[in-house]
Amino acid sequence: MSEKLIFELSSPGRKGFSLPLLDIPEKKTDELIPSELLRKDPPALPEVSEVDVARHFVRFSIQNHHVDKGFYPLGSCTMKYNPKINETLARLNGLTHIHPLQTEDTIQGALRLMYELGEYLEEISGMEEISLQPAAGAHGELTSLLIIHAYHKKNKSPRTKVIIPDSAHGTNPASVITAGFSTLQIKSNSKGLIDIEELKKVMNEDVAALMITNPNTLGLFEREILEISRVVHDAGALLYMDGANLNALMGITRPGDMGFDVVHFNLHKTFSTPHGGGGPGSGPVGVKENLAPFLPVPFVAKQASKKGGEEYYLDYKRPLSIGRMHSFYGNFGVMVKAYVYIRQLGAKGLREVSENAIINANYLRQILKQYYQLPYDEFCQHEFVLSGDRQKEKGVKTLDIAKRLLDFDLHAPTVYFPLIVHEALMIEPTETESKESLDEFIDAMIKISKEVDENPQMVTSAPHVTPVGRLDEAKAARDLNLRWKKT
Ligand SMILES: *Cc1c(COP(=O)(O)O)cnc(C)c1O
Repeated sequence: MSEKLIFELSSPGRKGFSLPLLDIPEKKTDELIPSELLRKDPPALPEVSEVDVARHFVRFSIQNHHVDKGFYPLGSCTMKYNPKINETLARLNGLTHIHPLQTEDTIQGALRLMYELGEYLEEISGMEEISLQPAAGAHGELTSLLIIHAYHKKNKSPRTKVIIPDSAHGTNPASVITAGFSTLQIKSNSKGLIDIEELKKVMNEDVAALMITNPNTLGLFEREILEISRVVHDAGALLYMDGANLNALMGITRPGDMGFDVVHFNLHKTFSTPHGGGGPGSGPVGVKENLAPFLPVPFVAKQASKKGGEEYYLDYKRPLSIGRMHSFYGNFGVMVKAYVYIRQLGAKGLREVSENAIINANYLRQILKQYYQLPYDEFCQHEFVLSGDRQKEKGVKTLDIAKRLLDFDLHAPTVYFPLIVHEALMIEPTETESKESLDEFIDAMIKISKEVDENPQMVTSAPHVTPVGRLDEAKAARDLNLRWKKT
């Protein structure tokens, strides 16, 4: 890492700004701010020029990998390219200079955007009402489970268990527990799908819901979903869809039509927005009519205006609501980006997104299965999961393969997830990649599989050309130190 810290670039007196001359009488700071609130010494901030700052961060941005720089097939995360028009429009002054405490009549445009985004999501998913409040997928899961809890309680049938398959994303059991339920795990069948016989065995009056991802985390579509829905509903339970994989379904089929009662969306995955590293995201929740009374407040609604025409307003009158899940109304900026994305593509474009995501994944799958084990060899949706078991026998772990890929300027796939595949490599190319970039990835994966046979040391000691080698992945989290001290 040759790049210095911004503090090391600091030079006393250097400035990155110039302010206009004061055109009002000058006053001393301590006439304006109580002296006990004033700091004694100037803050330890770097003193740098604008060009120092710009170059410093541009240099950093190319040392790291990101979607604007290269292929990013991180399975389950849908790291698609984010059209720049989203950013341009999300930055419009009319959208960024409003405050959530303004009166409704002064933010009609923002409320309309939220209302319409909700309608689009309803249309795409086949659900009947939407809350845009949750901040990300996992937060949408928690919201949905609290809604499910409130529903059973209202029906005087409190239930304590939520069934999840063994292929579930880690946030699923975590959300189940956080919402106060306990988990009941069921094993997937030999095809990697829900085993209906297993499901029937564990189904009883104490089950609140079945929580599944469709297509599931192996990238496989649950073909028996209508039968699954019947089994769940016959027992008085609800069917919940983790919608993180919606990128495979848009315009082709809808969770609402498959029998799901509640679904969360990951706007930052399916509908583009730079994400990773903790946000920002948005995880709206869509429900069928019977669950609508429990949605979080406030609810963005529309009514006839006294002045004629229509007006948008924030509805707080939902006595059965689970309450607020986010300060104000959610992550508005991410909603704007999703809105722009949907409006720009339209219905036909969204279907093409899903079709191309599926074609790209199957293209990679067909070729790579000749070099890596493919435990569930089926036509896949937008992603698929290889196993590094064959390479492991030769002493090369999946982690080594992931690290070696970085030398080719490619981001690694998701590794060691889902848990039901040994040495898993979960690959999601997304629709935004051309055949050329898919071929580059294929070439690198083939080259690595040959190295495993001929020169395994090359793989086990990777990466070789990145700014840093193998990092202690736990240290930054366990021993976080962001303070700068001049030595
Ligand atoms: C990403 C993901 C989640 C969690 O969503 P976040 O937005 O990261 O909180 C849940 N389930 C699946 C299948 C996912 O891929």
